[in-house]
Amino acid sequence: MKGLREIAPYIPGLQPQEKRMIKINTNENAFSPSPRVAAALAAFDAGELRKYSSLDNGDLRAILAKNNGILAEQIIVGNGSDDVLALAFLSFFNSSDKVIFPDLTYGFYRVWCDLFRIPFEEIALTENFELRTADYLRENGGIVIANPNAPTGIYKSLAEIEEIVKQNQHVVVIIDEAYIAFGGETALPLLEKYDNIFITRTFSKDAALAGLRVGYGIGSPKLIGIINAVKNSYNPYSVDMIAEKLAVVACEDVAYYAKTNGEIAEIRDWFSAELLALGFEVLPSLTNFVLAKPVGVSAAELYAHLQAKKIYVRYFGDKVRIADYLRISIGKQAEMVEVLMAIQEIL
Ligand code: PMP
Repeated sequence: MKGLREIAPYIPGLQPQEKRMIKINTNENAFSPSPRVAAALAAFDAGELRKYSSLDNGDLRAILAKNNGILAEQIIVGNGSDDVLALAFLSFFNSSDKVIFPDLTYGFYRVWCDLFRIPFEEIALTENFELRTADYLRENGGIVIANPNAPTGIYKSLAEIEEIVKQNQHVVVIIDEAYIAFGGETALPLLEKYDNIFITRTFSKDAALAGLRVGYGIGSPKLIGIINAVKNSYNPYSVDMIAEKLAVVACEDVAYYAKTNGEIAEIRDWFSAELLALGFEVLPSLTNFVLAKPVGVSAAELYAHLQAKKIYVRYFGDKVRIADYLRISIGKQAEMVEVLMAIQEIL
């Protein structure tokens, strides 16, 4: 047949449906969402669903603006940050110059470049998986940086992010802050100085709402206007009515999330120290996961051993540079104790 598209898609982590398992393979939040979310869901009037959802997501944008000290005109909401990122690639990367991003980063960036036929180049992180600022001070058609990065967990300082944004004012620099709530400093203050920065966030990690599919982007009103036009050329009602309502109540419970996410950061630091004590190499993470290289057993063997015990972690066997590593999301303390015991069995 003529005209069929063939593409290598993004490969997400497994979503097993077992009752008893430790699922630490897709960086979901270890805790339940705010109790207010369950209450709002129970109180939702299904009769409302007769109507289309909001076109401008005004309620959600208003509370996001308040919580972040910005204007609603600086925000676009989408069906997960994957949706917002895909729209951003479509909206901002239309030159013939190459978009640049690290060789080890969120796998979807190269998939969107392939899908949308955007020229791109992956820039190698250093041996220690660090992003070198100097590598991003060259001619390009746009820049994408996850900060903290995934799957490494490594955070880059705001000063260095600013240098990259400042030296590239002729293109859009996307900063993907999916994991920023677990330790790093947000790039939000840069919005006052630069109109070429676009920051993406998600409710999937820090708000414990991966299944709800809500994310958002923050940028100058000019960039938001452009991305909105693209969104409205494709799927104007991308956030459903229930999702918007539940995301709003999640935003109202800042205290709950500060507590649970703070706890995740503590468990992460404790778990990292335990792995280091076993002799593992552990990258310094400011996210809700760690990338670690086992000793005494290969990553593939440890992955299989854990899976046999219904402990699901992520193994990137096809990515040469990290084929000796496992990415382990941070679960509850008791789960991570079990994980450590299971690891020790095979060493
Ligand atoms: N960016 C990064 C760096 C991620 O790890 C993820 C989660 N897989 C996303 C974006 C997308 O998250 P979501 O679509 O659930 O908002």
